[in-house]
Amino acid sequence: MVNQKMDNGSSYEKFWFTPESQDATEMAVTDWIEELEDLPYDKLRDVYSTKYEKRMFCSECYCAPLHMVRSTKNKIFLRTYDKHKHTERCSHRYPKLGKKAVKELITRLSDNDLQKKLEAGISLCTIDKKKKRSVENSENGKIEDNPLLVTVQTNGGYSTKSFPRRSINFIGRVEDDSIMLLYGNVRIEVLEWGENSYLHAKRLKDGHLLLSIKITSKVKRYLREKYDMIDKALNEKVQINVHLAVICSIWRNEKNGRIFYNTTLRGSQYILLKEHKTE
Ligand SMILES: [Zn+2]
Repeated sequence: MVNQKMDNGSSYEKFWFTPESQDATEMAVTDWIEELEDLPYDKLRDVYSTKYEKRMFCSECYCAPLHMVRSTKNKIFLRTYDKHKHTERCSHRYPKLGKKAVKELITRLSDNDLQKKLEAGISLCTIDKKKKRSVENSENGKIEDNPLLVTVQTNGGYSTKSFPRRSINFIGRVEDDSIMLLYGNVRIEVLEWGENSYLHAKRLKDGHLLLSIKITSKVKRYLREKYDMIDKALNEKVQINVHLAVICSIWRNEKNGRIFYNTTLRGSQYILLKEHKTE
């Protein structure tokens, strides 16, 4: 366990957990944090080393071991120390595409390309308790088949980069106006203020606002047609648990000492929602 000062952002919304006496399964990072974070330090170390240490892996490739890192503010996160422990096809292995390059790329992506990235985002946050570990699948496929990877031309030829992405629950420090794929298990609420509508993504546990998505009336119309839950959220003023994936440019904001992010949805092709069925 390492204690270091760092940006608390993470793209891990879930991990692959191989407990000693039960079947291996996917586990939500938020559940893991809830179990450990508020424990006294000795107890935290104890639970981590007996239950989790060396039993947590990247949920995209199942290969790279993940380790707990504790920040100076006593927040805990997951990190890989060696990127090369991820398989060739895992997006965590590659450096992120830069801010300018993403802006340029986004203008060239077809609706189908966007949809594939959004679907990949949804699968990064869907916890499948019955899922089997499939290292072969993650190793055998082609690099180009992973929608989170991008091949770019460089001076010397081509290189592989990952499309920037973060879990909505752990956005952390990012440069304002950076475009990225955000995904996570959240509650949504739809609000109407004057001419504008906002889709608020909130933390499941306590309803703390994480991401405020401004939507135009045209996009709202489309979302109401496509998703019954948006209609329901509006008409019945209810909050709904969802897996959310959105490709957007975000700005950091702060209200009453709490950090959240703002974005404006550029079009309905940049968002995907799936109802989150709790077991
Ligand atoms: Zn991996």
